[in-house]
Amino acid sequence: MAIYADMHVHTTFSSDGKGSMEEMIQKALSLGLRHICFTEHNDFDYPRHAGDPENIFLLNVDSYLYELLTKREKYGDRIKILFGIELGVDPAIVQKNNELSHAHDFDFIIASSHVCHGKDPYYPDFYEGRSEKEAYREYFESELENVQKFSNFDVYGHLDYVVRYGPTQNQNYHYADYAEIIDEILLFLIKNDKGLEVNTGGFRCGIGSTNPCIDIIKRYHELGGKVITIGSDAHEPKYLTDQFSATCQMLQEIGFKYYAVYEKRQPEYFKLDTLL
Ligand SMILES: [Zn+2]
Ligand SMILES: [Zn+2]
Repeated sequence: MAIYADMHVHTTFSSDGKGSMEEMIQKALSLGLRHICFTEHNDFDYPRHAGDPENIFLLNVDSYLYELLTKREKYGDRIKILFGIELGVDPAIVQKNNELSHAHDFDFIIASSHVCHGKDPYYPDFYEGRSEKEAYREYFESELENVQKFSNFDVYGHLDYVVRYGPTQNQNYHYADYAEIIDEILLFLIKNDKGLEVNTGGFRCGIGSTNPCIDIIKRYHELGGKVITIGSDAHEPKYLTDQFSATCQMLQEIGFKYYAVYEKRQPEYFKLDTLL
């Protein structure tokens, strides 16, 4: 393994997290990580589904920070523990996201589309009455709208997350079908010094790929994009750094030499090494 930072990690401070912060750190130490960035979920106005508790993805930032600071006391000489957030973005909640993101001294902010115009693409109703391609297009268009309206983030998370959940997932999905919208998003990120997240969670959702897919990562590189963070999106300890070796190799083949670690919202670059 040649990437020593996992920049996308959840604990039980996220409603869908299954490992405590302590367990995640223990696992990170056993893997030899030098940085771990916790990026707990916050999604304002998340649509309510049957069985969901109220305020399911609203984060208690103060409790989360308190726990993180106690872990820094305990483990700070062995691993750098970073204070991040995965902020669910949607055009309707720009103001709330601006307030939250400015209210705390986060090290790192991932902007992610978990909800598209009020609907979660995880659920079938997002695809009802239209083709998969139309649904995917709406998702990418809403991301373009997001980057244009909300700017207080560092990287865009799992850019083609929608293909994890469409009726045929990524079997009929091609970057080329959405190239004009995706290129506009990538150019916007590059022009505004934002990075692209390479999220390995897709491997666990049956798509056999990172999010975004390799063609989008290649295109970002081709357009001049240089800032990438790599995250497992682990919600339990066993998935920390999942697929990092294969991802490291893929990124090197595309032409990337460095990955970024954010601290106090500033990127620091580390070499993608291949251990042969
Ligand atoms: Zn996410
Ligand atoms: Zn996540």
